[in-house]
Amino acid sequence: MTLLVGSLMLMAVVVTSVVLYQSYRQVERTSINHALNVARIAQRSISRNMELLSLDLDSVAWRYRHAQLHSMPVQQQLEFLLGEKVEAGYIVAQGIVNAEGTLVVGSPILEQIMPGSFSGRDFFDMARQDAATTLYISPPQSVRLERRAQVIVLSKRLVHADGNFAGIVFMVLYLDYFRQLFEAMSLEKHAVMSLYSVDGVAYMRVPYDDAFIGSVLENAPQLQKLLASTSPAEGSYFTRSLQDGVQRLYSYVRVPKTRWVVFIGQTKQTLFREWMRMLYAVLFLLAVFSTASVYLMSLLREEFFRRSKLDQQLEEQARTDKLTTLLNRRALDEGLQEAWHKCQRNQAARFAVLFADVDFFKLYNDTYGHKAGDYALVAVARCIRSAVSRHFDRAGRYGGEEFVVLLDEADAEGALHVARTIIAALQAQKIPHERSPCGRLTISIGVACLERGVHRSIEEVVKAADQALYQAKRDGRNRVVLYQAPTEVVPAAWQLSSANS
Ligand code: GH3
Ligand code: MG
Ligand code: MG
Repeated sequence: MTLLVGSLMLMAVVVTSVVLYQSYRQVERTSINHALNVARIAQRSISRNMELLSLDLDSVAWRYRHAQLHSMPVQQQLEFLLGEKVEAGYIVAQGIVNAEGTLVVGSPILEQIMPGSFSGRDFFDMARQDAATTLYISPPQSVRLERRAQVIVLSKRLVHADGNFAGIVFMVLYLDYFRQLFEAMSLEKHAVMSLYSVDGVAYMRVPYDDAFIGSVLENAPQLQKLLASTSPAEGSYFTRSLQDGVQRLYSYVRVPKTRWVVFIGQTKQTLFREWMRMLYAVLFLLAVFSTASVYLMSLLREEFFRRSKLDQQLEEQARTDKLTTLLNRRALDEGLQEAWHKCQRNQAARFAVLFADVDFFKLYNDTYGHKAGDYALVAVARCIRSAVSRHFDRAGRYGGEEFVVLLDEADAEGALHVARTIIAALQAQKIPHERSPCGRLTISIGVACLERGVHRSIEEVVKAADQALYQAKRDGRNRVVLYQAPTEVVPAAWQLSSANS
């Protein structure tokens, strides 16, 4: 029973663990997919805008090569190159710088935010050194407008007809563009969204922190490894944030044709909140189930023991004589049959039977009353019990004032000894019986030992003991007689019996 309940509980725990693990993986997969989807949307928006801005720079460069440009007045040149509205949306300013690093034409605000020669500025120097005409994106820079602002510069190299460096065309862009883009995305409460270059420079992070912009991640080599050309363009991993130390699931998507990567970090706590709730509920139910099972099991065990004890008691009652608490007739018969069968199986085994009967008991009843008779029978039973102490011996009330004792592995001598002990014990009780010649309550006992080849059933052994008892009665009572086969004349029994009288 315990094993069954234990196995059931173990099975429940195993099944629950598997289900919980599966659901954990499912939550993880769903979260990664969601994060990647959001990151992809941001990445596409950035890509498209960068492409448009790159085309814009190309068209400025193309117009710059126009033959009549240089004969135009400055204001007209500006309008021709950059259009009427040069400061639009997230674009702070645009301009063209010649090969010497001097601003040729550009938004008036440039004088405020980038005064002097452009030679020495990273985006100019890069264009001068690098023959490639791809879009260059500068690291974040802090500029002072009406307030301090974080910007980046997008620039393209200009070349003369002969291919020599002619300067750059550039555009200054507010980093707020990324901030607003990221803030518009649907993110969890504690999630972060950020834009890094592969060398670890931070361009944007939402929740926004101005101090963070332009900082370089210390573990940039790790980032580069993660984003190496051989590794996939997107992915996810768990790690502790270097900024706030919170464990997050990071999903990343690279922005094509740039050195940028969009990151989304979701805290484990947020992702698995629902799952944790389910876990606690399941653990609670498991605990309740286990406690209930253990409680029920203990109740069942208790009930089981109570019943088996009751059964044992009933069984004992069914085998016990109510008045004397010795074995009853049924139990005695069973014991006798058992002894008989044991001797059938084992030729070396033996037993003896004592048949005892209270003397002049009818007269005792008549003199002292039936109740006193009962007490007397209890006293006799006590004497018998005290004389029969070995574990395998049996003593019982055969009926009325008759008792039978089965002595296991006893010979005649041993059986006679027990019989005499019983007689002596009753004598010691000194129960008055005025109508008995002895003046006291006495008992007569017939003894028979199993004789192989003579006795053919247990009933014959008992009958032999009964015959010996009959002889004891005839001989004057208050004595023991050993059964002798009728043909043989063995005076020993008579001598023994007379010794008791
Ligand atoms: P004997 O010495 O020859 O055995 O004579 P006896 O009077 O003992 O034998 P008898 O068979 O004539 O009487 C037995 C009596 O035992 C009769 C009966 O009233 C009494 N008896 C039997 N069972 C009980 C019992 O449970 N309680 C009481 N008080 N008496 C019982
Ligand atoms: Mg009798
Ligand atoms: Mg009697």
